[in-house]
Amino acid sequence: MASYGKASASLSITVIGGGTAGLACAYALQAAGHRVCLLEKNPGRDTSARGGVLCPPNMTRILNHWGLGSLFPTAPRNRGVHFKLGTNQEIVRSSPFPDDFMRAFGADYLFLTYSDLLDALYDSALKAGVLFQYNTTVVTIDPDNARVELAGGKVIEGDIIVAADGVHSLARPLVSESVARHGQPWHYHQASSSISADILRVNTELAPLLNATELNIWMGDGYGILGYPIHDRDLYAVDVTWLEKSTNGEDGICGPFEELSLDATGVKVDELDAKLRALVSLPKVLRHSVFTPQEPPERLVHNSGKLILMGGAAHPSPVHWTHGTALTIEDAATLGALFSHLSSRAQISAFISAFEDIRLPRCANVIKADVSNLETVVHPRSTSVADQTADSPKPPPSEPVPKTLTGWDEVFESNYQAEWEELIAMFDYDANDVSEEWWVTWGSLMQRAAHSSLSQPETDLQLLSTPLPELLSSY
Ligand SMILES: Cc1cc2nc3c(=O)[nH]c(=O)nc-3n(C[C@H](O)[C@H](O)[C@H](O)COP(=O)(O)OP(=O)(O)OC[C@H]3O[C@@H](n4cnc5c(N)ncnc54)[C@H](O)[C@@H]3O)c2cc1C
Repeated sequence: MASYGKASASLSITVIGGGTAGLACAYALQAAGHRVCLLEKNPGRDTSARGGVLCPPNMTRILNHWGLGSLFPTAPRNRGVHFKLGTNQEIVRSSPFPDDFMRAFGADYLFLTYSDLLDALYDSALKAGVLFQYNTTVVTIDPDNARVELAGGKVIEGDIIVAADGVHSLARPLVSESVARHGQPWHYHQASSSISADILRVNTELAPLLNATELNIWMGDGYGILGYPIHDRDLYAVDVTWLEKSTNGEDGICGPFEELSLDATGVKVDELDAKLRALVSLPKVLRHSVFTPQEPPERLVHNSGKLILMGGAAHPSPVHWTHGTALTIEDAATLGALFSHLSSRAQISAFISAFEDIRLPRCANVIKADVSNLETVVHPRSTSVADQTADSPKPPPSEPVPKTLTGWDEVFESNYQAEWEELIAMFDYDANDVSEEWWVTWGSLMQRAAHSSLSQPETDLQLLSTPLPELLSSY
């Protein structure tokens, strides 16, 4: 299994949470030579959720680096996006991802199944040697001493804590305030499910969806529907998003993944084209979550330098949209790549600062673009929805010109250059490379400081724990 070099200084790391974020970072840090103990309050991972996960090239690249890409040989490949009207299936815009475009990324865009992803991450983490403690709820966190107290009173202490405890994180208030986006009048409700191929195949109109090679996005009046095949094309994922006015200006950010019927969603089922109506009526229940756009967090690490936030705990994003899970996996890869270079405990604070410096701008940019795209899709077109508030979300682009992009030249010559540049910046990102670049830039400086500390221990040990930008400016 290809992954990281082993750190010569091995830390004892406590990971809180066994969702995608916790499993991924537990694997990456253990593979990088550390001793990871993962604490999860549930009795096991919830693999009953067979929803879809969009896995763009920036996420696939990491899974490949971890040796997991080969675990999804039959996962459908996404070759583009169709934006359609929900009322009549008219294609408003079609954006294929041309072969040379995708080849340039060196990694596929996959349609994954949530439970398969969890299984793959769990198996890798177990094989790497992660210690799992299920049925274990963390009740208090002492960030200054990297210590957690469990329900029942037991205390676990390590060198650092990674909080991957999701959007209702116990750790987040210790690090950074959650602030709803300024002037945010809407909550984005999402509900997801998947439909078995056996059910779809008996409907001759719906059966072809199983062979789709594109992501379908159906747009409605204040709602949107995503559809794509998953799991060797024997399931079809359906995710619906709709707007509801914020009543108190601030609310929960995501979860709690309760089950919901289609009638209880904001999808205007009666106005849908018959085929789409038949599709969305198939799942008996949908799993519900709520997302309220947040101001980007100011910090991802506690001042003590011993508590790190990652995944949904760090930067909530719409669960059933394009980049939520990818950012989580990028967080994990960044931690793994950085901490694989640890050769002294005195470097911990510099490595943790590096994680924050690398991840804060990347996550803020991606979530901003992701939410803006979601807003365009679910933008209310009728006054009945828009009038719910004077401050409706940003209107869609004024020129949604139907256009098909087929090759690099057209991609760059088109009016959509800015959009494609944004997409390329998302897809092309290599979390491992970015972390390695950080190490190449700063590592020699740290080694120099470490080396000189051997000859002048008092002065230079202080130097070694100085934040790197300050260190550099002192040279
Ligand atoms: C049941 C479920 C189904 C999902 N289905 C899909 C899907 O189909 N498609 C998709 O794209 N995304 C899905 N997601 C969402 C996705 O996992 C996350 O939103 C996102 O990837 C961020 O992951 P995370 O690991 O940060 O958070 P989460 O997935 O929320 O994981 C956080 C974990 O931390 C644990 N935890 C929280 N507090 C404590 C504590 N105090 N002590 C110990 N453990 C604690 C929780 O039990 C949970 O397992 C699902 C999430 C859940 C929980």
